[in-house]
Amino acid sequence: MKREQLYSGKAKTIYKTDDPDTLIAEFRNSLTAFNGEKKGEMELKGYYNAQISKKMFEMLEAGGIKTHFVSMLSDIDMLVRKVEIINIEVIVRNIAAGSITKKYPIKEGSVFKSPVLVFDFKSDEYGDPMLNDDIAVALGVATREELATLRKLALRINELLVPYLDGKGILLPDFKLEFGRKDGEIILADEISCDTCRFWDKETGKSMDKDVFRFDKGDISKAYEEVARRIVPEIFK
Ligand code: ADP
Ligand code: UDP
Repeated sequence: MKREQLYSGKAKTIYKTDDPDTLIAEFRNSLTAFNGEKKGEMELKGYYNAQISKKMFEMLEAGGIKTHFVSMLSDIDMLVRKVEIINIEVIVRNIAAGSITKKYPIKEGSVFKSPVLVFDFKSDEYGDPMLNDDIAVALGVATREELATLRKLALRINELLVPYLDGKGILLPDFKLEFGRKDGEIILADEISCDTCRFWDKETGKSMDKDVFRFDKGDISKAYEEVARRIVPEIFK
């Protein structure tokens, strides 16, 4: 049962439950970009992202990755294991897009020979600056051993996601993961959705993710719905 609200973020609200080991993540319809500067709403966004995340967590669990996912309590309410979030946005890049094409001489669409991993400090106040291992350790966000584990888990998750999405006609240029500590282990938390991944249609190269909102590329509802149709077709029956 939903108890007091613990935290309301940019896209989800987190509630306590009767069990101290679990939380409820409610996926909302609010959209933000550029560190909260651009704001919007999309009907059914919370629903599509919750259902897509659920499917991704189930697929990854089947592939041997431990996640915080427990069950769905409603269309938009996900019961999750409470973790101590590691304040690092783990970004995996397969094809160049977004910030990396602005910061470095790398053309959008260039395919990386091997995945490029970036650790950003999860901090709205500081604008999520990029970390290296020494800075992460100096800040106390993670130990060197944990950083090595994050790297290994993120690359394994990428190996599972890329072929899974390819089978649905979706390219995965990049995505962001969050992990947390639970009972001495590091497990995957947060969400994997149109808000946190770049999804490109394999045939047309068109964006089917938050870039549609960020850069006013077209109808955001249609884009998210199309991803949901491919990943969770059962919700349309
Ligand atoms: P943000 O905080 O970036 O605005 P959200 O609106 O998605 O993002 O808020 C969800 C918050 O819940 C995030 O801060 C995320 O790190 C945190 N979170 C996600 N999964 C868990 C979990 N299993 N246990 C505890 N906190 C979590
Ligand atoms: N991302 C995210 N949350 C963030 C920053 C990035 O989910 O706070 C995701 C983003 O959707 C993209 C990937 O991480 O799939 C890489 O984002 P990038 O660093 O290029 O940032 P952007 O230019 O999109 O702001």
